[in-house]
This record gives sequence, C-alpha cells and structure tokens, in this order.
Amino acid sequence: MVEVKNQVVNLKMYIDGEWKEAENQQTRLVYNPANGEIIAKAPEGTITDARAAIDAARKAFDTGVWSGISAQERASYLLKIADKIDSYAEELTELETMDNGKPLREAGFDVADAAACFRYYAGLITKPDGQTYHVADPMQAMVVREPVGVCGLIVPWNYPLLMSVWKIAPALAAGNTIVFKPSEVTPVTPQKLFEIFEEVGLPKGAANMVMGAGAVVGNEIVSHPDVDMVSFTGGTKTGKHIMKTAADTMKKVSLELGGKSPNIIFADSDFETAVDYALFGIYAGSGQVCSAGSRILVEESIYDQFVARFVERARKIKVGPGNDPSTEMGPLVSADHLEKILYYIELGKQEGATVACGGNRIVTAGLEKGYFVEPTVFVNVEQEMRIVQEEIFGPVVVIQKFKDEEEAIKLANGTIYGLAGGVFTKDGAKGLRVIKKLRAGITWINSYHPTYNEAPWGGYKQSGIGRSLGTFGLEEFQEIKQININLQVEPVGWFSN
Ligand code: NDP
Repeated sequence: MVEVKNQVVNLKMYIDGEWKEAENQQTRLVYNPANGEIIAKAPEGTITDARAAIDAARKAFDTGVWSGISAQERASYLLKIADKIDSYAEELTELETMDNGKPLREAGFDVADAAACFRYYAGLITKPDGQTYHVADPMQAMVVREPVGVCGLIVPWNYPLLMSVWKIAPALAAGNTIVFKPSEVTPVTPQKLFEIFEEVGLPKGAANMVMGAGAVVGNEIVSHPDVDMVSFTGGTKTGKHIMKTAADTMKKVSLELGGKSPNIIFADSDFETAVDYALFGIYAGSGQVCSAGSRILVEESIYDQFVARFVERARKIKVGPGNDPSTEMGPLVSADHLEKILYYIELGKQEGATVACGGNRIVTAGLEKGYFVEPTVFVNVEQEMRIVQEEIFGPVVVIQKFKDEEEAIKLANGTIYGLAGGVFTKDGAKGLRVIKKLRAGITWINSYHPTYNEAPWGGYKQSGIGRSLGTFGLEEFQEIKQININLQVEPVGWFSN
C-alpha cells in the first residue's frame, strides 16, 4: 500500500483485520521534514474509531484467537514478521528517512533492530518461566505468567518503527491483543508494519492500529475500561497525564519518558574517545533521542581543551537531508518541533549562557524548506538554568565543568530525570563507583548509546516506570498468577458444626 514515490499516499487504520478510514473521513497531512513536502494523508481517527479498535482487541483476546494459541505458534508468527521486515528492509529504511528525517544509516539500523527484536521475543516466549514453591503438605503452590489482556500502546515520533516494535513484539509474544497508536507526525512505517501483520496472517483483532490526535484517540485508549494496560513512550508531561487518566480504571501502566542525561568526562579518560562519544551522544538522531547525552560534564583541568575540540568537530558535522548518503545529521521532525528548539536556544541566551557554536536554523540553498538546526553548544551555564534542567530534545548540548567526583555526581543527579548516563575514565574502579551513584536506569562506561534487545531500557525518577526490552520488557506485558493446589481433597474442618 505504501510506496516510496514522490506522491502523496493515503494511509489507513487497521481495525479487526480491515483497513479503515476515519469514520468522519477526516485526514491529516504528513510532511517530509527534509523539505516540507506532503508525503501522506493519515486518517484523523475519532473516539468512535478508537472504540472500534478496542472492541476488536477485546473480542480477540476474550475468544482466545491469539491468547489461546501456543507460545510456539505465536513465536512462529513473530519469526515470519521478522523475516518480512528483513525482506522489506530497503523500503522501510527509505520510508523511515522520509517520514522522520533521520539519515539512511540510522534508519537502516532501526529496521535491522526491529527484525531482531521480533526474533528475540519469539525465542524468549518459548523458554521456561514460572516458579513452584515448597509449601506445607498437602498443598502445591506455583506461579504462572499470563497475558495482561488488551494493551494500549502509544508511541512518539523519534523512532517511529523501532519504538512501535519495542512494545508490539513483547506484547504479542506474551499473548496480549493490542490497540496501537503511532505519533500523528510519523505514521508511515507503522502502517507498513501492520501491512506485514496482514501478510503473515495474524488473527483478526490481535493487532489493531488507530491514528489521530493523542488527546482524542490516545486519551480514549487510556481511559476505556476494556483496555487493561497502557504502555507509553513520550514526553514526561504527557506521561503524567496518562498515569492520572489510567488510574480511574486502575490500568497497569508502563511509561518510558524524557531525559536530560549526563555524560561525565574525567581528565584521565581517553580524550579523543570521550569527545567522539560525546558528539554521538547528543547529535545522533539530531538529539531527538530520549537517552541523549544532553549534559556533558567535564573535569575542570581538561574543560577548555574539551570544549575547543568538541566545538571544532561539531562545526564539521554534515547536516543535510537523510536520503543523502553523506548526511551525518538530519533535520528535526516537524515545523512545530523546530520552533521548540529555536525557542530553547533563545531561552539559553536570555538566561546568560554562551553559544559556543551553532544556534541557528540552517537556511542554505537546498535546506531552506526543511527543519534543519546547527549542532549547538552552550557553555557558561548554571545548573538551575532551564536549558540545563529541561529536556530540549534537539541538537543542543550544555557543557558544564566539575571539580571532583563528588561534584560530578551531584550535578549529574541534579534534575528531575533519571533515564541514562555515561562516564569516561581509564580508572575502572572510579568508572563503576560513579555509575553506581548515578540515579539512572541505562548507563555506559567509556561508551554512549548502544542499546540491546536483551537488556532492559527505562528510567528512574521522572523518566518513567517499568522497563522495555529483555526479560523485563516481556514481564511488563504479563500478569502473575498464583495457583494453589490441594493434593489431599478433604474438608478443611475449621468450623465444628
Ligand atoms: P508526546 O508525549 O506529546 O506524544 C507521544 C505520543 O503520545 C504521541 O503518539 C501522542 O499523540 C500521544 N499523546 C499525546 N497526548 C496524549 C494523551 N493525552 N493521551 C494519550 N496519548 C497522548 O510527545 P511529543 O511528540 O509532543 O513531544 C513532546 C516532547 O516530549 C518532546 O519535545 C520531547 O521532549 C518529549 N519526547 C520524549 C520522547 C522520549 O522518547 N523520551 C519521545 C518523544 C517526545 P500525537 O502526538 O499523535 O497527538
């Protein structure tokens, strides 16, 4: 259905195995962030559409067309999906670049990782789980894991395909049925993924997709009593709203939210390695990465040298359209997001910070219609400034100075967030000592950003609740049931009469 052509494609929602327009026929335009061209029209789903998807998922769960089949059978569907993702890899990569703006090499990595994620959960769901307990005779106690039920999955625009898969693969593996909502900004590759679900013959109603505004269809998913769980990735403000709304029906919630992650560079680190990873930490994905190393903390004895080298290299990053193979950093995802980033850059100047490089929209010939911003560095920053405290979610980094280990840890932990963090040092004991003091869920020593399907992903503090990926990511989508079996069937004899 979706074709990589310079033509506007009409996207559809996928409800109970059927492709649907919004019930009121309304659509929303989707833009290529590299040039502002319209690439697709997406259905502007309504509450009625969301309810239809929820009903389909509820029916599919309750009748057991998905939850009732064996783990082996579900795994074989997931493996077929992974193979299809591989076979469409080139198309998916190009679509992701067109929709989100990210360079082809980043999109290609996401596509390969998406296939790997389906394979990982296909394997995991067929492995042993549960526990048995040595309780007093004549009882036998045990625990089994079961699907939660109907899961509402809501994702943002920064990894349109991969974030979808991080939720969909474990949710389906566990036997749940799903109502999925992509970001209204980037619905193109999610639709392709659902076309794959149709191709492999996923039972009707097992996987449903609605499109439209978060405040409308997203909110319906979060508040509807037939949805048992909500798994959300996005901004902390939205996450708080979702948690409050979900409380009314006591849904299980899993929240992967924002970050303002510290990257701590000690004077004894391998200097060029630290600079290189620090650049990668903030400018990969144009800084639109939840775990971005957006606060670089540098020991004072190498601070000036570090800033000079970092700025020298940041200036040379090749910014351009994602479909140009020589591009190293793409545009921001949307015109609205561009405005937000430019707002934060102005705010930083007003707060008294110094722009060491960048700070402008790029309007050179060929890029003037896209949403491009220069790699930007702020120095002379104070911990309480908003550009240090708030998630900017763009190619904007602050570089701070610290005196010693204690101050580095204090500054690193000094925001409401706790998603990720890195430490660079050649002193192994110091590296681990500092990492253990970081209040963050994902950390690296002498590295930044690598993510593994096998390992848990999520944050401390206001960066969220729960974990994606790994065994923890599967458990998010499972209930735990205690089963007690009496092996001596006779009356308990508690009452005498
Ligand atoms: P949001 O948190 O607003 O959106 C993420 C998803 O939630 C989208 O699908 C959105 O729908 C949906 N949504 C929005 N409101 C509701 C609601 N009331 N109920 C249910 N679902 C809802 O992120 P944005 O895209 O607006 O980005 C805002 C900021 O969030 C970014 O600038 C960044 O700071 C942060 N962010 C963090 C991410 C992370 O991975 N940690 C990822 C993305 C953003 P829709 O947008 O389609 O209306």
